[in-house]
Amino acid sequence: MSDERAGLDDERRSIALATRGFMPELEGDALWAAARDAAATVPGAPLLEVGSYCGRSTVWLGDVAEHAGTVVFAVDHHRGSEENQAGWEHHDTSVVDARTGKMDTLPFFRAVIHDADLEDAVVAIVGRSHVVAATWTTPLAFLFIDGGHGELPARLDYEGWTPHVAIGGTLAIHDVFPDPADGGRPPYEQIFRPALESGRFRLASATGSLRVLTRVD
Ligand code: SAH
Ligand code: MG
Repeated sequence: MSDERAGLDDERRSIALATRGFMPELEGDALWAAARDAAATVPGAPLLEVGSYCGRSTVWLGDVAEHAGTVVFAVDHHRGSEENQAGWEHHDTSVVDARTGKMDTLPFFRAVIHDADLEDAVVAIVGRSHVVAATWTTPLAFLFIDGGHGELPARLDYEGWTPHVAIGGTLAIHDVFPDPADGGRPPYEQIFRPALESGRFRLASATGSLRVLTRVD
């Protein structure tokens, strides 16, 4: 199904922008356009996101999935990344579960997907990324990696998920900073560079820290 829309409608856009998270509007729109093209290129195949947090980026991807007649799997353990924990730069005390004292973004995620009317198009998978990847077999039209930004989780996401991108499908990576002065290195060193150096992926576009690669082999 071809999707000629220009982007999110006003209601979903305002929900996405009101959602806690780390996806700038311009990059969300670039993510949307890349996912729309990928869904048209590999019809019927699902989308998958690693790292949903409160569902901000998921609104853009869910909108694409809905219009393409497919789904987006949203993988997250909902316990936060290193940099989301207490004492770190991106910590938000309002997403801590008082009973356990641990982060729990799942209730926020559910509320956002409900309010955006995307429950038919977004399938949450609550678990550790590498554990989910270990038994995954379905080819993906679109893979978005925005999970743990440490060296090990980034490498495990590269190894566990990128083989599942269909030929002609798309790999999008967030928080890619070629210049160390701009931010942490693992998404660049453990995902972006290996993907290009593997010869399996070719760079298609860059918007802010978002990189979009096409699977060619
Ligand atoms: N895409 C989101 C931001 C994601 S933040 C947005 O648009 O705002 C990174 C997320 O990755 C966090 O929610 C964290 O819980 C999740 N994460 C980090 N490491 C993970 C792992 N190993 N398995 C599953 N989820 C992980
Ligand atoms: Mg990010």
